Amino acid sequence: MTLRTLMLATAAAFPALAHANAAEVELWRLDCGTIAVKDLAVFSDTFNYEGQSRTLTDSCYLIRHNAGYMIWDTGLPAALLNAPQGDAAMAPTLAKTLPSQLAEIGVKPEQIETVGISHYHFDHVGQAADFARATLLIGKADLAAIQQTPSPFGADPTFLAPWIKGEAKAEPVEGDKDVFGDGSVVMLSTPGHTPGSYSLLVRVSKRGRCCSAATRSISRSSSPMTACRPSIQTVPKRSPRWTA
Ligand SMILES: [Zn+2]
Repeated sequence: MTLRTLMLATAAAFPALAHANAAEVELWRLDCGTIAVKDLAVFSDTFNYEGQSRTLTDSCYLIRHNAGYMIWDTGLPAALLNAPQGDAAMAPTLAKTLPSQLAEIGVKPEQIETVGISHYHFDHVGQAADFARATLLIGKADLAAIQQTPSPFGADPTFLAPWIKGEAKAEPVEGDKDVFGDGSVVMLSTPGHTPGSYSLLVRVSKRGRCCSAATRSISRSSSPMTACRPSIQTVPKRSPRWTA
């Protein structure tokens, strides 16, 4: 089999791969807050973090796919803007809202066509309603769970009210989902942290792959996105080097 034949055969077998590089894909990391944790012990059932404290980073991501924009996770709610750290066991605070960061790179909230969320916890959906015109991609099991009474731990359905009330389009996701149908942005089913948790695989144009885990890494304080080559941009724009 020649190389060309092999490539054609591969394209036929995996059509999404054949178009994976066709779209222009850019990726920005957005600041979605921090959570100061006094005692990390709660994050390990094998006593790995007894007595340790750490500030966890809450990250969101903006993805440009050709002319369309998608946001992955919407972080802490804006009500926590400049919230004092205080003396609480867990102290969340937000330095900048998502709309203000988008404005820095000339993107308006109404340009966001898709909001995907990793899971329903409040620190991942807090500013979702700022993008109520967007289609919401959410794990089917998470969408069902968040509508239960009482709400699951760490969940507040009011953050997703536009979609729960049917005022905006929600798309419950089962299994993996190729968001744009070309293999460039894929939601990967990773249940466990919540019943419908998802990670996101992004193939950035000519740069490499980035994968966002559904849960925050304790051992690396910078961000949950891993396996990412120097392909990610920050707001405001700095050297696009990934340091996790
Ligand atoms: Zn969570």
